[in-house]
Amino acid sequence: MTLFLSIILSFYSNQLIDKNSEVMKFELVKLPYAVDALEPVIGKQTIEYHHGKHLQTYVNNLNNLIPGTKFENAPLEKIVSESDGAIFNNAGQVLNHNLYFTQFSPKGGGKPQGKLAEAIDKTWGSFENFQKEFEAAGTGLFGSGWVWLAKDKDGKLSITKENNAGNPVTKGLTPLLGFDVWEHAYYLDFQNRRADHLSALWKIVDWNAVGDRY
Ligand code: MN
Repeated sequence: MTLFLSIILSFYSNQLIDKNSEVMKFELVKLPYAVDALEPVIGKQTIEYHHGKHLQTYVNNLNNLIPGTKFENAPLEKIVSESDGAIFNNAGQVLNHNLYFTQFSPKGGGKPQGKLAEAIDKTWGSFENFQKEFEAAGTGLFGSGWVWLAKDKDGKLSITKENNAGNPVTKGLTPLLGFDVWEHAYYLDFQNRRADHLSALWKIVDWNAVGDRY
């Protein structure tokens, strides 16, 4: 582009575009089911608070933090991979919960199919062994965080334990399935019984949605 043309274009765009309105806003992910559809595994009140209050707060915080930073209009995964502090905490939790709330279905449960099922069998010997290791990782995580099934660029699977807002994208991995072990995810339904909550979640996992991520 000629210098003349770029000067004209930059003048033109500054005149016509309000800089603030250019920054893309993150939105609260829509639930693919009714708020009471996952009962009794996840109760209506838990969904209303977890999605409508906790996640909405992370979305609002992120939208307030991004303007004026290098992350304006960046994809969420990139923000999570490259940020720290408050931006990382809120972006991580938006990404985590977007994956979380879209991986369940009232018609879920059963077992993974196809290539994901083969990869799980290859890695852990059986789906049941995978479930045991996944639950143990979530139960053994101290404090708040997440347990993830993730794949690397070659499709190799692993279970990762992440503190607080952590997500496997920070390790160059792709998250496939995440169980939230923050108390807000289960306290109204299971109180202190995190292990019981984790073992109940298998009944609502939408393996079609998880398989699509693989
Ligand atoms: Mn949560």
